[in-house]
Amino acid sequence: MNEQNDRKNEQEEISLYEKLVSRTADLLEEGKKTFDEALKRAKEELAAAGDFSREQADRLGEYVRRDLRENADKAREAVKKAVEPLRLAAGVQSAFSRILTSTAETLTELAQRSEKSLEYKTGEITSPGTLTCKDCEAEMHMTKTTRIPPCPKCHKTVFRKSY
Ligand SMILES: [Zn+2]
Repeated sequence: MNEQNDRKNEQEEISLYEKLVSRTADLLEEGKKTFDEALKRAKEELAAAGDFSREQADRLGEYVRRDLRENADKAREAVKKAVEPLRLAAGVQSAFSRILTSTAETLTELAQRSEKSLEYKTGEITSPGTLTCKDCEAEMHMTKTTRIPPCPKCHKTVFRKSY
């Protein structure tokens, strides 16, 4: 694949990821009870529309699920500290905020599923935040949904995330 195609593919995946998050939020607001149900339905709808394959939908769905857990963890911490529950930026972060306020599950239930440590790898799509290289501790600050590049310092490919 040449560089131009690769860039086009990256933009498509970012846009699909954002569609998936916002459609999941819509479905929860329309009364779907759980996050899993809403995400499954959103994936089916977008795959049926022919924009992307079933396999791609499943992969992007896993990125959304992981990023939501991170957001749930953060929201729970904020609630504990009695500050504004989710001071999140516009765009995809506000869709996460809508998901967290619409789902029937509590923040604790969503966050409990994140007990195993979350790893972020080069090539995956993720929402805004700070990625820290697990090898050299270099930080990358992302202000929008992005495909994760290699570590700018040591070129390794595994990160943890914070906001
Ligand atoms: Zn590094």
